[in-house]
This record gives sequence, structure tokens and C-alpha cells, in this order.
Amino acid sequence: MADKKKNDAAKEAAKKALEAAAANRSAGRKKIEHTYTQVGQESTSKEELLAATRKNALPYRIFAVILWILAIGFEVFAILFFTHTLELSFTTENPGWTISWAVCLGLDLICVIIGSLLWKKGNHLDPAPAKNKARFWIQNNFGVIVSVLAFAPFIIFALTDKKANKQSKIIAVIAAAVALVVAGLVSFDWNPVSQEEMLENAHIDTVYWTASGTVYHAYDDCQHLNHTVELLTGTSAAAIENGKTRLCKTCEARAAKEAEQLVENTAENKPAETDALKISE
Ligand SMILES: [Zn+2]
Repeated sequence: MADKKKNDAAKEAAKKALEAAAANRSAGRKKIEHTYTQVGQESTSKEELLAATRKNALPYRIFAVILWILAIGFEVFAILFFTHTLELSFTTENPGWTISWAVCLGLDLICVIIGSLLWKKGNHLDPAPAKNKARFWIQNNFGVIVSVLAFAPFIIFALTDKKANKQSKIIAVIAAAVALVVAGLVSFDWNPVSQEEMLENAHIDTVYWTASGTVYHAYDDCQHLNHTVELLTGTSAAAIENGKTRLCKTCEARAAKEAEQLVENTAENKPAETDALKISE
């Protein structure tokens, strides 16, 4: 009997210790001691802000255009090799001939994809205004247009070529079509940012961001900041100037929820709770 009691007590103690450890772990996940660095205290006008975002985006746009030009260049070589317009000693016969245009198509695809990723980054740093829908779509998805330019002409040349055999033509057309679809999907901006959206949130007094992140946060205890000790803080305009053009979605949802609660409490005429919320803000 005494042994059973001892056993139960030991089990109970082990259980408690486990629970305590689990509680510590979850507390550790939620709380982190941040260090804060203040960035840019003076206020910025809309024009200054847009000039800063344009400057941030410029290198990405330049490199995107260079890569896209290279992509079209590789496509031209792919066409020249496929149609035997350009022949090197090793491209007159197979497998040299197939390798020559296939490698050019592959390099074409790589250049389009990297160019489009840089282009999209540029658009997120310096978003297009959404009020002109056509311009907004074209600027955000310019990589899709480039994808078509980088593969459709090759497909047309491959289809109409007289020298190549049917099997080679089918392989070439399928390869280029797959490359076009892949490049197009990667180039499409599935989550575009508008200039209006960026400016709308540009008046928050205090936000937080990390050196490597792409968004800024309204709350320093946001779950996405749990793994970063060093936070940068300042106005949202300063965050935007530092390349963080979007408010974190989690923080945005939380702010909306808190605002809703505040309105509800005011509507229900509960002055005590409203005051408490204000103080805790
Ligand atoms: Zn956040």
C-alpha cells in the first residue's frame, strides 16, 4: 500500500513538472526581450516619401530590365540554332543541335524568372497607383508580358520550321510552352501592393520592423517578431523609406479587431471599460 502511494506521488510530481515545463515553453514562445533602435524622427511629406520609394526600387528595376533583355537575347540564339540559321561546328548534328537550342531556352527561362522576381520586388518597394486599373495591371504583371515575348516567337519559329523533323518540333514546342507557363505564373503578382494602400498607412506614429523583413508591425509583441531581438522603430513613413512598404497582415487584423471592440464598448456606453482600453493602449 505504501509503495503504491509513493508511486502515485511520484507520478503526480512528474506530471506537474511536465506541465510547468510546457507552460514555460509557451511563455518563452510569446515573450522576447527586444532591443529598439529609433529610425528617422523628422516627418516626411508625401512627395519625399514617393521619391524615397522610387529610389529604393530603382536598382531592382534596372537589373530586371537587364535580365529580361538577356532573356530575349537567349531566345534569339535558341531560334537561330533551331532554324540552323546560326551553325557552329558542334550544332550541325544531334545531339549538339538539340543541346544548343535547349540550353538557350533554359537560360532564357532563368533570366525571365529572376528578372520578374526583381521587378515584383521593385513594385512592392514603390507601388503603382491603383486608380488607373490598366496601368496598375501592366506595371505589376509586366513580367507576364515579357514571358510571352521570351517564348512565343520561338514557338512560332519552331512550328513553321521546314528543316526540323516532326518529333524535334513537338519536343521544342512543348518545352517552350511549359517554360512560358512557368515563367508567366512566377511573373504574375498574386499579392500586389497599391500606392494608395501604402500611403494610407503612412501616418502611424510608432511601428516596428526588422532589418531583414519586408513588412512593418503595429505591435512589438506580434508573433512574427518573436524570433528577432533587435527591432527598428519609428513612424510608418520611416519604415516605408527603409523598404518596408506594407503593414503586417496579422497586426492589421489585430488593429481592426481592437478598433471594433473600442467602438462596441463606446456604443454600449461602458465608460469604465473604454477607459481601461485607452490606458492599456
Ligand atoms: Zn505584425
